[in-house]
Amino acid sequence: MSIRQILTVGAPSLRERSAEVTNSQIRSPKMRRLVKDMTETLAHAKGIGLAAPQIGEQVRVVLFDVPEDNGYADDGQVLSRTICINPEITVLEGPVDGFWEGCLSVPGKRGFVERPQHIRLDFLDLAAKSRSMEFHGFLSTVCQHEIDHLDGVLYIDRVKEPELLVSDAEFDEEVE
Ligand code: ZN
Repeated sequence: MSIRQILTVGAPSLRERSAEVTNSQIRSPKMRRLVKDMTETLAHAKGIGLAAPQIGEQVRVVLFDVPEDNGYADDGQVLSRTICINPEITVLEGPVDGFWEGCLSVPGKRGFVERPQHIRLDFLDLAAKSRSMEFHGFLSTVCQHEIDHLDGVLYIDRVKEPELLVSDAEFDEEVE
């Protein structure tokens, strides 16, 4: 188990489509190692989500660890310490709304991105069992942000206006 380097924008791995994981791969020691590394790396970076390609592994694996008291997630929805393998998003009926997003692979920046705010997330867990969860609001944004990584998409690709991508310092000034 080790803290891995998080790749930043410019690294080719962040722009590739990652491969589906097979059932036998899910049960492999290599997968257990990957999950441990992702868990330790995300905790060390104090992030809320990490996709395998962010540490240079081109497989469709995402880890979420959104604190329950994050101040955004309402409706008692929880997305803490959850590994999603081969995740798929289905957009459900509901509003499209935006959040200021940040990304461990785009350090020092924030960008305003609008996304559907009601989704279903289908995935396999570490026992290769099918799971399905539904999310509204902030957590639906977090899901879409992470799963974009599996297709080589970064949130900065989805920022519609240049002025909606700012530095952390500018963002903090705006908030104050
Ligand atoms: Zn990200």
